[in-house]
Amino acid sequence: MTSSEPAFVFGQRLREKYPQPLTFLKCLSCGTENSRPFKEGDYIFGMVDSEKCPKCGGTSSKIVNIYVPEKKETR
Ligand SMILES: [Zn+2]
Repeated sequence: MTSSEPAFVFGQRLREKYPQPLTFLKCLSCGTENSRPFKEGDYIFGMVDSEKCPKCGGTSSKIVNIYVPEKKETR
């Protein structure tokens, strides 16, 4: 088991009902990492210029991770 699951798996789950994935953005100005709900078109290392950094107000961020919560259906 690796500590973090690769995010590539989210593609196959988009067609079903899935838990809201999270996109992690790193601000290019100050390096702060923020997360927000995944939006269509997000991909790792993609550039985002529509999110405002809460710390410095910069609008250029890079996607550094996309986290897909596991569906809890054990039962
Ligand atoms: Zn910033």
